Amino acid sequence: MGVLSMKGGDGEHSYANNSEAQKSITSDAKPEVVKSVNEMIVKMDFPGCIKVADLGCSSGENTFLVMSEIVNTIITTYQQKGQNPPEIDCCLNDLPDNDFNTTFKLIPSFHEKLKMNVKGKCFVSGSPGSFYTRLFPSKSLHFVHSSFCLHWLSKVPDGLEENKKNVYLRSPCPPNLYESYLNQFKNDFSTFLRMRAEETMPNGRMALTLVGRKTLDPLSKHCFKDWSLVSDSLLDLVYEGVVKESDLESFNLPYYNPDESEVKEVIDNEGSFEINNFETIFGLLFSYKTGRSEVKDDCDDDVDHSRRFEVVKKRANLARSIIEPMLVAHFGDAIIDRLFEKYIYHAGQRYDTLRNKPTVNFFVSLARK
Ligand code: SAH
Repeated sequence: MGVLSMKGGDGEHSYANNSEAQKSITSDAKPEVVKSVNEMIVKMDFPGCIKVADLGCSSGENTFLVMSEIVNTIITTYQQKGQNPPEIDCCLNDLPDNDFNTTFKLIPSFHEKLKMNVKGKCFVSGSPGSFYTRLFPSKSLHFVHSSFCLHWLSKVPDGLEENKKNVYLRSPCPPNLYESYLNQFKNDFSTFLRMRAEETMPNGRMALTLVGRKTLDPLSKHCFKDWSLVSDSLLDLVYEGVVKESDLESFNLPYYNPDESEVKEVIDNEGSFEINNFETIFGLLFSYKTGRSEVKDDCDDDVDHSRRFEVVKKRANLARSIIEPMLVAHFGDAIIDRLFEKYIYHAGQRYDTLRNKPTVNFFVSLARK
């Protein structure tokens, strides 16, 4: 499944250039990450070397956004205690197909942003592989961070044959399709926790941000709509004869946005980690406003047409930077531009409904028991 990686490079449709929405949610979660790093250091009594892993780092500035915050927090915490900073091992993980080259080119600017010159003390390395497998030696990690990854499953769930015209769940959705996705998520997230439990030291910490959904009756309410614009656009291309119907029918995303109880249940059942904090961070689909209570868009209702087009186009580029590699692997690259023209059309049509639809993201802070 080498196709699940964001679009690399730094072009118009790259993840690096289209991840502002993720960036603003991640920024919202920063104070909680800082708190967790702080507590870990004190609990572990100021270790001489700290190993930090960012899982699903992708390519672009977001990769270093939180890592620099973590390293700066470590430096400050030691300084406040009158101690020399420890050696810091920063391990960047993603799937082997990730554009690590783009990421590694940003290391010098990462070093520059650190609070003091820790060049001889702060080491960055890449750790390619799936985070649903073991990535690091036993009991070697102090702190694990992962943002915007755990809604990506290890594979497309089995049993989706009936899901013909959609690339993901769409309300109203048959119970068995929902169960297929939910079971895959439970298996995968539980495996993730078990692998990390083996790799983290006692009292080690994890900070995870992922896309979720409100707790509503999953089969009747509109909580799975995120990818319906892609489904509708593909359907248009089927009608135009550009995409084979059977190709659309056999395409499903390895994605699941759980609700709060589903996330908590997996953590409790797996049993290795204690939940220190669980927060919901809301965002808006067509702007980058975020907050802990539901954000309301304060834009004028009658935003002019060209601005509306710009906003919708940005949204299309965001979706494209995330799923283009998966679409290309299944449908070929000839359809991509056309597909996202359709996407822009549909998003424009539904602009008023979509504009104020809150996105739900979870921040979870965990401690190794
Ligand atoms: N952390 C970044 C990037 C999120 S994009 C940010 O917050 O902006 C999600 C990333 O998770 C992608 O780069 C994708 O390749 C990676 N990913 C998805 N499944 C993965 C897996 N099983 N193992 C490692 N990385 C994975």
